[in-house]
Amino acid sequence: MSPSPQITALIVAAGRGVRAGGGIPKQYRTLRGQPLLAHTVDAFLTHPRISRILVVIHPDDRALYDSAIGSRALLPPAPGGDARQDSVRLGLEALTASPPDYVLIHDAARPFVDTALIDRVIDALARHDGAIPGLALSDTIKRAGKGLVEGTVPREGLYRVQTPQGFHYKAIVAAHRSQQGQALTDDAAVAEAAGLSVAMVAGAEENMKVTEPEDFARAEADPAAFDVVVGQGFDVHQFEAGDHVWLCGVKVPHSHGLEGHSDADAGLHALTDALLGAIGAGDIGVHFPPSDPQWKGAASDRFLAHAAKLVVEAGGRILNVDVTFICERPKIGPHRPAMVARLSEILGLPPQRISIKATTTEGLGFTGRREGLAAQAIASLRLPRIG
Ligand code: MG
Repeated sequence: MSPSPQITALIVAAGRGVRAGGGIPKQYRTLRGQPLLAHTVDAFLTHPRISRILVVIHPDDRALYDSAIGSRALLPPAPGGDARQDSVRLGLEALTASPPDYVLIHDAARPFVDTALIDRVIDALARHDGAIPGLALSDTIKRAGKGLVEGTVPREGLYRVQTPQGFHYKAIVAAHRSQQGQALTDDAAVAEAAGLSVAMVAGAEENMKVTEPEDFARAEADPAAFDVVVGQGFDVHQFEAGDHVWLCGVKVPHSHGLEGHSDADAGLHALTDALLGAIGAGDIGVHFPPSDPQWKGAASDRFLAHAAKLVVEAGGRILNVDVTFICERPKIGPHRPAMVARLSEILGLPPQRISIKATTTEGLGFTGRREGLAAQAIASLRLPRIG
């Protein structure tokens, strides 16, 4: 095999598939603004290792195909047969004039196949006649009939398989010819029946088959869709007698302490409020009432950790945080790296997504008079899309 094998994607789109609704075969139904088939084709068209794409279509669907594919540069579509197995064989036969090294056979109804999955299949073909993506079963499997459970099937070693299923072209075309009329449900079954070795590589949940109306609804909802939201927080504490202050979880030596019910860490309080604000979860006082004696003298990192946990529970992820201290003293700069490191620890966020800044008010106001210190914070998050 040459170092860069010629790889053709064979997309099977000949099914009638009207179960999904919409009055036309599902591969031509619109999903997120374009026909399902166009999404599927683009997944391969944009893959650098795929040199050609052939779609197998139902002869009645030529107009739908032309409109779905538009100006994309594909091989002329091949007419399919009655059963899927026939359609694949006819597609493979259409490639005999200029045979590829590998062929990846893919269902048109799996539009969300990703580059990495395609790579896994291709890579495994260096060592095997075939390779298919599979996902281990996580649900308990039962055998049942007439509405009654008849037994539990051990799920060890059982996989749900997906496409693309990749094969050495010559081997799979020969297998399909020899297994004609066997009503096998996937190409790996054809390969297995012909005695080929087929590897299993990791599939992907996102590589779902869009079949039923609710699959379209789910795909339309886009599991990857998210909103970016922001929250802000502000906090002030007054100086009191003491020799250190806590700021963003770091003990900073100072001529005074900060007065407060907890450790008076204005940086962590402002940031906690920013996170709570972004997810619409009230403020720090709602979650940790100052009237509750258990928070007396508490280290404020637990407040921030709690807010971060609520973000995760809301299905969110913190993108960045930005804290500004407003004070004449103490000097924040020397402690900035330690503060960034501490926030990184508490939030599980890379340091480059954490900002600590400081400013004075030019001697004006309560911070200018060094009566106290203020902190403000902004956090941006991604959250599951609403609506
Ligand atoms: Mg506070």
